[in-house]
Amino acid sequence: MAIALVWLRDDLRLDDNPALRAAIEGGYIPLAIYVHAPEEEGDWAPGNASNAWRHRSLRALDERLRARGSRLRVFRGPTLQTLQSLLVATDAEAVFWNRRYEPAVERRDAAIKRALRGQGVRAESFNGALLFEPWQVETRQGDPYRVFTPYWKTALASWREPALWDAPTAAWPTLPDEDAVPHGVALEALRLVPGRGWDGGFWERFAPGEAGARAALERFVGHGLVGYGLRRDFPARRGTSRLSPHLHFGEVSVARVAAAVRAAEAPADDVERFVAELGWREFAHHLLHHFPGTTDADLNPRFRDFDWAVPQPRILRAWQHGRTGVPIVDAGMRELWRTGWMHNRVRMVAASYLTKHLRMHWRHGARWFWDTLVDADLASNGLGWQWVAGTGADAAPYVRVFNPVTQAARFDPDGSYVARWLPELASLPLPLRHAPWGDPAALARAAPDYPRRPLVEPAEGRRAALRAYAAIAPPR
Ligand code: FAD
Repeated sequence: MAIALVWLRDDLRLDDNPALRAAIEGGYIPLAIYVHAPEEEGDWAPGNASNAWRHRSLRALDERLRARGSRLRVFRGPTLQTLQSLLVATDAEAVFWNRRYEPAVERRDAAIKRALRGQGVRAESFNGALLFEPWQVETRQGDPYRVFTPYWKTALASWREPALWDAPTAAWPTLPDEDAVPHGVALEALRLVPGRGWDGGFWERFAPGEAGARAALERFVGHGLVGYGLRRDFPARRGTSRLSPHLHFGEVSVARVAAAVRAAEAPADDVERFVAELGWREFAHHLLHHFPGTTDADLNPRFRDFDWAVPQPRILRAWQHGRTGVPIVDAGMRELWRTGWMHNRVRMVAASYLTKHLRMHWRHGARWFWDTLVDADLASNGLGWQWVAGTGADAAPYVRVFNPVTQAARFDPDGSYVARWLPELASLPLPLRHAPWGDPAALARAAPDYPRRPLVEPAEGRRAALRAYAAIAPPR
């Protein structure tokens, strides 16, 4: 039997994996490989939290492969040369992979496909990450969408129930002698694990790998989907699926997730709401593909002249480490540092405080999230930041400045989220816990080390942000 290299990247699963399927159904022996080449990802090489997750996810994948008599082979790049030398060493006839959509990676992958085909190798890529590929959904004029609702309506109109593929549990074609082909390097040699045990708290919440992803999906479908529409905005409750890192690393296919949710016994509103959130992930990839410069630049060119604050390291550090003096923001930033994840509502509030009250360009926040989120995803992170900052597609209008105190009162009504992540404020009664600068003496008694005053007081920050916006807003 001929060999096919199955080049795994952000599709770290066996189930419903189109590249693996192509190898098995094509009659090849699949040789699963991972090539580590972060320098090929341009300015957005994976951050520390992502690396920590990837380490565990690769290990989990290797274990699954070993249970089938195979294994994962890990190599260090450069990718094209690595693939070429493996083709020679193994006599493989084909290379299959699932597509990624980050601009630098798309360019690299296209060059690899050309080069391999040029030397007569069967090189094929598949969609293993999205319900709709970025170029599949377009306006009647053939343009990309910039607004979510019509995008999603058009996408849903072309929805076809995906044919899911179950990876075979038996009769897995393996090499007669696994040791006869290059082993690659030990996973540890990639040095993906961050120092000083920073990631310890991540694993109290998450279990990377395909089994962890399926367990999270089953838990959500069984216990989280009913009432999702109501609960999803309350950060103290476990109201969302927490599937984002599993989806980013492709440990479960989005088609599998959508199918499980649509087949569940749950109110149609909850199902529709959840599937629309998957739709935002699709839309993010659509935008990134069509506007690749938006990883760093504002989608809305009007913001080129905006009076962003000159970034002061002291202020940025205070925001990063949860010391702005605004409890809901600080609680979110501490949740992020401790667990590698932050609730969506709090992401919006923390991002709004940075970009509007502190008037820092969203890029500074996006970079920090990139390094600290286990679900860091170039498409979704960019969309989220530009949406909040008002610079992006379908963005909240700039003048919609989230008031962090009102947001906290509404979405953390009993103050338990703030108490959990800022235990020093737990003894303060409500509403003081959400705006402790209102009683400096009580704050000093409860939490002598907590900032006495916010970096920027919400009403004052809002006024300054609107003034800056008025300077670039078109005349009425
Ligand atoms: P659920 O509510 O259970 O949603 C299910 C899935 O839908 C998620 O797992 C995710 O894949 C997708 N999804 C939900 N909301 C969004 C959204 N607004 N945009 C895109 N996809 C969405 N999400 C990331 O996956 N990676 C990021 O790097 C990222 N950065 C963000 C930065 C900012 C400033 C903001 C405001 C949002 C960001 N998001 C990002 C989107 C969102 O916060 C997370 O996807 C969500 O919190 C993940 O939790 P969950 O899996 O429990 O979500």
